[in-house]
Amino acid sequence: MNTGFQRLVSAFWVLLVVWGAPQVLRAQLRFNTVVIDAGHGGKDPGTIWYHRVEKHLALDVAKRVETGLRAKGFKTVMTRRHDTFVELSQRARLANKVPHSIFVSVHFNANARSPGSKGAEMHYFGPKGLYLGQRLNTAFDKHVQLGCTRLVPRKRLVVLRETKAPAVLVECGYLTHRTNSWLCSLTSHRQTIANAIVAGILASQAR
Ligand SMILES: [Zn+2]
Repeated sequence: MNTGFQRLVSAFWVLLVVWGAPQVLRAQLRFNTVVIDAGHGGKDPGTIWYHRVEKHLALDVAKRVETGLRAKGFKTVMTRRHDTFVELSQRARLANKVPHSIFVSVHFNANARSPGSKGAEMHYFGPKGLYLGQRLNTAFDKHVQLGCTRLVPRKRLVVLRETKAPAVLVECGYLTHRTNSWLCSLTSHRQTIANAIVAGILASQAR
């Protein structure tokens, strides 16, 4: 092989590595722990529609996610496991103490001005949050009735902005939408939501 050709080949590899690196970085999340954040709690009930209270539904799903993740060998940390009030910045501070982690916040949505809005939404911060959000989006479309309708970048949401780990806030469904709200009241639907969150997390993990 002549040296000119060899140089060309090595230049090609250097280019490939340099050019390919950011994609590889974006496509891999390395973590063994998931911080699960049940939205609201205590004096903050979140949204309430048709007697369905967001803080209770969120904690229920969060605990199901915890069970599912532990069964898959992940370590988990809950920001709350009772009906207690926890400040948003305190949740982020707690998350930042957990090494090798990602952060998943569980909420339910409401839009009184647009009662036709339905389905889940993934709210994310940063490119790694987007990557995780996309995996969760796919899992919801595959497993959960009404699927995921939107991926929403959020720059100012405290729990996402102040959390250093890849972070997504899952809006599990609209309590203002009659059918979506009724679905969210079903234990079986909430279990399906939790399963989809676990599947999305698994899909985002580098192996
Ligand atoms: Zn909420």
